[in-house]
Amino acid sequence: MGLLNRWIESLDYEFRVLDACSRHLSPLSTCSKCFDSCTEAAITFVSGKPIINHEKCTECGDCIVECPAQAIEGFLPKRMIHQNQLIATDEHPPSIRELLVLYKKGVKTLIYEQEVVNTDWKQAVSEANDRLKQLNEPPFSIQRKKGEIKEEKYTRREVFSIWKKEAQSTMKQIAPAKWRFNHRELDLSIFYPNDQFTIISLDTSKCTTCKACQMLCKKNCLQITETDFTLSAQRCSGCMLCQDICPEKAITVEEKIQPAVKISHSLYTKECTTCNSKYKTLSINNDKCVMCKKRESFGTFLK
Ligand code: SF4
Ligand code: SF4
Ligand code: SF4
Repeated sequence: MGLLNRWIESLDYEFRVLDACSRHLSPLSTCSKCFDSCTEAAITFVSGKPIINHEKCTECGDCIVECPAQAIEGFLPKRMIHQNQLIATDEHPPSIRELLVLYKKGVKTLIYEQEVVNTDWKQAVSEANDRLKQLNEPPFSIQRKKGEIKEEKYTRREVFSIWKKEAQSTMKQIAPAKWRFNHRELDLSIFYPNDQFTIISLDTSKCTTCKACQMLCKKNCLQITETDFTLSAQRCSGCMLCQDICPEKAITVEEKIQPAVKISHSLYTKECTTCNSKYKTLSINNDKCVMCKKRESFGTFLK
């Protein structure tokens, strides 16, 4: 990262909840991961939507990392990286997600200076190593620091020349005040394209193929066509919105790492035994269309 970028990064800014938040997309969303992760109680829900109290927020970045939808704009704490090695400091340790991203960017070693590595950092790396094992990747190595770790130093002439070169491109990035988002940086599906971090299951006897889940899934994991319903969890963020909004409680999402797969369920065309109309269903054993089924269960309810 350039000098000008580093300086601009140090300027004050505030974390912000973006429209990509599941609770902005639907009032049925039950996501509370940002709220649960904030140890400063700086996040509250107003009319069901998360609001950040900037008086309380310490900009630790926990909510940014925990948000499955990458819907919180802001920066993560700066990490000390030297020659592709992560240096443990006294600061807030990185999250598992952050470590998995750093790993794919080539940072595969944790260096520590004290006699024993800070417990929180060790725990974070150990949990990241558990995930890497499930992803069939070699673990992070943990090493004791050897020699001095020096900060990069520049002469005034070098600094001026670097700033001049960077100024133009950096100003372009700043232009619409959107010059840096971390949400892309934290999308694990981009860094692990052959794996999925969730499993999406569909109860074909309950699903009415109403397409509500398909319309709300921002990752295009759910595709209903004339012939089938395909679930592909590789891009799934685990936002749980499909599960929360499904009126039939037909879809469930759970966290699990496995090689990426697509699952297709066939759609059958059948004739309703009550109203004789043609309808589509995922269940071959189904003999009534959605409307007749609903009417029937409503009638039973009224009795
Ligand atoms: S974690 Fe993200 S998606 Fe969930 S409520 Fe907070 S901002 Fe919205
Ligand atoms: S899983 Fe639920 S929301 Fe999605 S199409 Fe089926 S019934 Fe509709
Ligand atoms: S499949 Fe469901 S949990 Fe996964 S990203 Fe789409 S809406 Fe969210």
